[in-house]
Amino acid sequence: MAAVVAESRVCETPGCNSAAKLQCPTCIKLGIQGSYFCSQDCFKGNWKSHKVLHKIAKGEGVNGKDEKEDYDPWPHYRFTGKLRPFSQGPRRTVPAHILRPDYADHPEGVPVSEQAVRGSAQIKCLTDEEEEGMRVACKLGREVLDEAAHLIEVGVTADEIDRVVHEACVDRECYPSPLNYYEFPRSCCTSVNEVICHGIPDLRPLKDGDICNVDVTVYHRGFHGDLNETFLIGNVSAEAKKLVRVTSECLMKAISIVHPGEKYREIGNVIQKHAQSHGFSVVRSYCGHGIHRLFHTAPSIPHYAKNKAVGVMKPGHCFTIEPMISQGSWRDEMWPDKWTAVTVDGMMSAQFEHTLLVTENGCDILTSRLEKNGQFHFLDKL
Ligand SMILES: [Zn+2]
Ligand SMILES: [Zn+2]
Repeated sequence: MAAVVAESRVCETPGCNSAAKLQCPTCIKLGIQGSYFCSQDCFKGNWKSHKVLHKIAKGEGVNGKDEKEDYDPWPHYRFTGKLRPFSQGPRRTVPAHILRPDYADHPEGVPVSEQAVRGSAQIKCLTDEEEEGMRVACKLGREVLDEAAHLIEVGVTADEIDRVVHEACVDRECYPSPLNYYEFPRSCCTSVNEVICHGIPDLRPLKDGDICNVDVTVYHRGFHGDLNETFLIGNVSAEAKKLVRVTSECLMKAISIVHPGEKYREIGNVIQKHAQSHGFSVVRSYCGHGIHRLFHTAPSIPHYAKNKAVGVMKPGHCFTIEPMISQGSWRDEMWPDKWTAVTVDGMMSAQFEHTLLVTENGCDILTSRLEKNGQFHFLDKL
């Protein structure tokens, strides 16, 4: 039913021109101006095209989209879920006095030093000096992610998170490692809901009920430190909270087996066992990686069971574990931007990551949370 209008207006139906006596009640509720009709018949006759206005006003878009922005870069791409890309803010730059990785100034963002050792399974054992370089870079990386954690909430855009990450890096004499890595356009990755990893920060405001992973890597005086966490935005469903909790548990259980003599291929067995016991699946296309002077290098560490990872842990090895756990299918596909990895069924995926150093009797979590920032522990929100 349409509500009765007081003032005299003309009916919205094209060519009708009768005096309007009715106004669409949904439009009144949503604060949409206009929407006057002469009769219930005209209102009903217009319903199909008219209701689109409600969807747009509610931020739902037209074709089942849930977004408001008039930006549609890939009109023929069939999205797997509700998330849509928004436009991006202006490119950011890093001051010249900060040491840059080789790909920062390569025209296609190619990390030449990484490619030189590509295909080699040999794992570097860090010297004492290199270990110290990694400890410092990882501690700074943790500080940067904590700055993002302070800010993240309903209504904040991923672009603002990217700005804070970028500025926090520069303040700490760090180059934000993702920037221009194979031409990645921003300074961190933000992966919302069905995005598995490598989401590009854009101008979409975070919504109540979203989950959002922020992946930070910093390059400080020749060393990369890499970590990520998934944050709960506002009131998140119990199922999504469980996904986030179980994912962080997967990471901590995997870390608990890291010690000299352990095979890298065991990590995936631990992770998949825990994920599967809660009904979740493990993403297979993206792995943990060796990290030090190079951003991504040997070993490659799958997070799924029965994998064929090569190598045995030794003191001085430095690498990440970063399980991506999905509510539905483990399968992923990529948006046409060639970065954003999403679940094929549009269901949520979560991730946590630490950079680890193998020690004589276990490992040090180089990116672990600082004591003084304990109040931001993600478990507090679960
Ligand atoms: Zn990583
Ligand atoms: Zn990372």
